[in-house]
Amino acid sequence: MRLDKYLCESTDLTRSQARTVLASGEITVNGEVVKRGTHIMQDGDDVQWEGESLAIIGLRYIMLNKPAGYECSLRNSQHPSVMSLIDVDKRDRLHTVGRLDVETTGLILITDDGQWTHRIISPRHRCDKVYLATLAETLPQNAGELFLAGVLLEGEDKPTLPAVLERVDERSARLTIQEGKYHQVRRMFASLGNLVLALHRERIGPVSLDADLQPGESRYLTPAEVAALA
Ligand code: URA
Repeated sequence: MRLDKYLCESTDLTRSQARTVLASGEITVNGEVVKRGTHIMQDGDDVQWEGESLAIIGLRYIMLNKPAGYECSLRNSQHPSVMSLIDVDKRDRLHTVGRLDVETTGLILITDDGQWTHRIISPRHRCDKVYLATLAETLPQNAGELFLAGVLLEGEDKPTLPAVLERVDERSARLTIQEGKYHQVRRMFASLGNLVLALHRERIGPVSLDADLQPGESRYLTPAEVAALA
């Protein structure tokens, strides 16, 4: 890899800022000042800037316990962005794996690995998303059968994929879906004449929200969790 690219990958410098820093002799490779951005790096080279070694930031996989009132956008707009809760370098490279509504809480994954994201959100991959819904009304007896058969949501031309409903108590239920249409869970319950008062995502595929994470807290996924979702 070229030295200028390495600088951009390992810091927040843009290409032109990297060139300026290089030209001013602030970068050393194995202790020698190198000013040429075209310099090709070898494995094991130690690149330093102001006495600190620089390491390339690899792909990152984060779980966040999303609090209500935050939106899954890259920047703050009408509401603060979930990204403002993540304190990492190169934050602008990250994106959320799908979206949760502003008022929905719970598990949201954040990464800079677009292929990994695609596998999780593409309905073709049938990755479970498990939600706990608090409802305004009790559910009809046949709600589970209706969701398993698929319901036609307003404005859609195809019914939802089979979804599994588990009654938790009178006014709450756990729903597992494998796709992510706009406001899907709220619209599915609305199709039964019900209203979702609170919605919390507990799990995506085999990965559950870490019970130790308070709302607003995040942690990196373990390699096993990353692989389990791949
Ligand atoms: N379905 C919804 O209706 N809202 C969410 O935030 C997620 C799934």
